[in-house]
Amino acid sequence: MTSTPGGRPDFPLPVPNEDGAPFWEHLRAGELCIQQCTSCGRLQHPPRVLCPGCGSPDRDWAPMSGRGTVYSFVVTHQAIHPSFEGHLPYVTALVELEEGPRLATNLLDIPPGEVEIGMPVEVELVPVSDEITLPLFRRPSSPRVE
Ligand SMILES: [Zn+2]
Repeated sequence: MTSTPGGRPDFPLPVPNEDGAPFWEHLRAGELCIQQCTSCGRLQHPPRVLCPGCGSPDRDWAPMSGRGTVYSFVVTHQAIHPSFEGHLPYVTALVELEEGPRLATNLLDIPPGEVEIGMPVEVELVPVSDEITLPLFRRPSSPRVE
């Protein structure tokens, strides 16, 4: 069993599709960007062909601050794939970015018993292959200025 940089287990990786490819390209370049409708300004994730707000096909990619809060989470105690064995329990979190969109992700260095809904987190981009850099989240490195 190998571990990736950042201590994340060697889980199966996402496979980008055509709509999502720019999301992964931005991550690989070191930036967390979310698809934004250029007609109504709505941010949407996962990426879509048409804006669910106004139906426009005109889209761009907006850089995010990387700051957010834990909106919801589950602690998994049973391996659903052989690569997860030896890494239980682990946390899958839904992180709400301060700009609004929510990402399904994993948390770094936060034990399952310490995860709380509403806790502040910030993104850390973790390269796990030539193609894939994952947006994972950890506790903020410095106190947040409101
Ligand atoms: Zn729109």
